[in-house]
Amino acid sequence: MCMNLRRFCSCGRNSAYLSCRDNLLPAEILVNLFCPECRPGSIIEATMLADCGWVLEYDVDRAQSYFTIRGIRSQATPAFIFDAGYLSWQGLAPGDQEVNTRLHQRLAPLIEQDLALYLQSLRSEWIAHAARLKAAGWRKAQAT
Ligand SMILES: [Zn+2]
Repeated sequence: MCMNLRRFCSCGRNSAYLSCRDNLLPAEILVNLFCPECRPGSIIEATMLADCGWVLEYDVDRAQSYFTIRGIRSQATPAFIFDAGYLSWQGLAPGDQEVNTRLHQRLAPLIEQDLALYLQSLRSEWIAHAARLKAAGWRKAQAT
């Protein structure tokens, strides 16, 4: 299981929240996670995917065997694993879980004052956040 998995990068200075669609791939399929401070100088496209300075390195051969067993016909490329959500950011970017928590904490006082405004504010602030991520070039945000 790797629901709500938090993973530190290779240098340990940053972390990302990850999600695993259908819990199909075990977390160790993500062999390495690099933040913008510890990312390698060059990307090996066969096994790595870069997203706004972060780099995810997958064990694509093992991922392929999981896909084959489960009847998923797509080739286990880093792009497919990431875009299909099998081992990808939770939310749209590595820090989204914390952004979401802070947003809920900040708006919480509104719950008792004006629930409709609370829900509307949650929604509009999250949409604005997603738009900022999209403008910054985050891969998952491009689909929003
Ligand atoms: Zn790092």
